[in-house]
Amino acid sequence: MIGVLGGGLSGLALASRLPDAEVLEAAERPGGLCRSVSFEGFTFDPHGSHILFSRDPRAMGFYEALLGENVCRRRRNTKVFYKGRYVKYPFENGLGELPPEDNLACLLGYVTAYAARKAGTAPRPTNLREWMYHRFGKGITECYLLPYNEKIWKAPAAEMGFDWVRRSGNTTASSRPCRFPISYGASPTRPRRCAPRRTPCSTAPSSR
Ligand SMILES: Cc1cc2nc3c(=O)[nH]c(=O)nc-3n(C[C@H](O)[C@H](O)[C@H](O)COP(=O)(O)OP(=O)(O)OC[C@H]3O[C@@H](n4cnc5c(N)ncnc54)[C@H](O)[C@@H]3O)c2cc1C
Repeated sequence: MIGVLGGGLSGLALASRLPDAEVLEAAERPGGLCRSVSFEGFTFDPHGSHILFSRDPRAMGFYEALLGENVCRRRRNTKVFYKGRYVKYPFENGLGELPPEDNLACLLGYVTAYAARKAGTAPRPTNLREWMYHRFGKGITECYLLPYNEKIWKAPAAEMGFDWVRRSGNTTASSRPCRFPISYGASPTRPRRCAPRRTPCSTAPSSR
């Protein structure tokens, strides 16, 4: 018997792959960050809404097999509301939709940062804030990445590490920038995402 500590998605997914495992969860119910609670007939996701997405078809197959018919499939169409206009998300792929002066600042900053990295003159970043400037340049960082990430993480970016952005393919801080031409707002692919149709978050953790 293997004891798995924590019944969030990681622990539950791991336990489902082990022949003989017991999940030890501190909270009353499993699910961790991906948990829904019911209150007076309404369902709330206390840690924020979730969609299920992976580039790995096996992972998507795993999710969908768990959820069965209870799947709501959508193509993502996310926008950033910026200076009164909607800009495609991720922001760095929607620069063509910015006001011309911001578009120029973002492009110039991006190219300048790129050139400095290639020339080896850019100092190595030591925190998330420095990493943003290093990777994306001044324009994209100041127009979007910095305010967005400080808002979502509720912490100064200078006090945050950046290991996670390189490691996980996480899109919050946009670790995989500019796979598409950045100047014209070329459409990135909008991969299919899914979420449980009923009891949004908790269905995935409670499926087996
Ligand atoms: C606002 C928000 C939106 C998100 N949106 C998405 C999304 O759309 N799509 C997506 O894929 N991901 C999303 N995520 C990320 C996703 O929620 C997490 O990656 C995932 O839930 C992490 O699962 P986990 O099991 O690693 O950790 P957790 O969910 O944190 O689970 C850890 C579990 O361990 C338990 N635990 C902790 N200490 C102990 C202990 N000592 N003993 C026993 N149990 C313990 C906790 O109670 C908890 O249940 C989002 C996260 C947030 C905050």
